[in-house]
Amino acid sequence: MSTGEFSIIERFFTHRRSRKDVVLGVGDDGAILAVPEGHHLVVSTDTLVSGIHFFADICPAKLAVKTVAVNLSDLAAMGAEPAWMTLAITMPDVDEGWLSEFARGLEQVCDYYGVALVGGDTTRGPLSLTVTMQGHVPINRALRRDGAKIGDWIYLTGAVGDSGAGLQALYQGEQGSQWQPFIERHLTPKPRLAAGIALRGIASAAMDLSDGLGSDLGHILRASGVAAQLEVDQIPLNPQLIELVGREQALQLALGGGEDYELLFTVSDSDKGTLATAMAETGSHAICIGQIVAGSGISYRRNGQEVDVSISGYNHFKENQ
Ligand code: ADP
Ligand code: MG
Repeated sequence: MSTGEFSIIERFFTHRRSRKDVVLGVGDDGAILAVPEGHHLVVSTDTLVSGIHFFADICPAKLAVKTVAVNLSDLAAMGAEPAWMTLAITMPDVDEGWLSEFARGLEQVCDYYGVALVGGDTTRGPLSLTVTMQGHVPINRALRRDGAKIGDWIYLTGAVGDSGAGLQALYQGEQGSQWQPFIERHLTPKPRLAAGIALRGIASAAMDLSDGLGSDLGHILRASGVAAQLEVDQIPLNPQLIELVGREQALQLALGGGEDYELLFTVSDSDKGTLATAMAETGSHAICIGQIVAGSGISYRRNGQEVDVSISGYNHFKENQ
């Protein structure tokens, strides 16, 4: 690595704050981290590529926040507590203005969630960002995708579809202020970390929603070897979204839009009461949208009748992924 790149790391990627469990951080060949006794390490990686996962002219601080937030969401889905991250950044040239804005957003989001940046890689090429997030969870308490059982109830931590609407607005260059909350939701996902931790020992299966409820639920179903019955009218939709695009389009965005980063999880009938307490304790929400049944795939119901809900590929941007 050249001296120029070394000074970039020193200036932009060496944060003021760290954590006590970082034995050795940025600067050596590897980081040394102290995993608390009785815990498992949980590791997750996500890459965001310019022109595919974000528009090239995105505000760099917002991009930093989003890159970290989507990785935190994976840890939330595991019921893990985030602790450390590495960042591999590839950029076409050294744009100091861009870098300093990016670094500002990065430091803010790391400080807010108490995550230490402990290393990474800095290379030249088309703009792309890879974060590896690491955290820990008490042994055998992690949330996984493969534990859903017949009869379990299916829940979401919040409304879905808003982020997909925001992406659509960005894609179509919508300028109206009515689109702003949705664009904001798309750019700044809120990882459900408190809910994830509260669901330890309660959720039989869990994951975070990145590709839309309709396809993501399939991952839990396949991993667990079960099917789902969804009550279409119980899927939580933002009333403002319904007002803007109509109920059917809002439902399409909820099922196929993606990037909501809400948690999707299942809970046995006997744990429903504990779930309500745990959610109230952490100020989180759990909205029941259906039930796990025998078989495979998802069936949709309205007023007790099975209905056909075809998910149109609403999200054009995603077709490039
Ligand atoms: P090496 O050549 O040993 O792979 P590098 O020269 O790439 O290491 O990086 C030097 C140090 O700076 C390492 O500790 C590495 O983890 C850290 N680092 C490099 N790029 C970044 C980055 N974008 N963010 C945080 N730390 C980084
Ligand atoms: Mg080295």
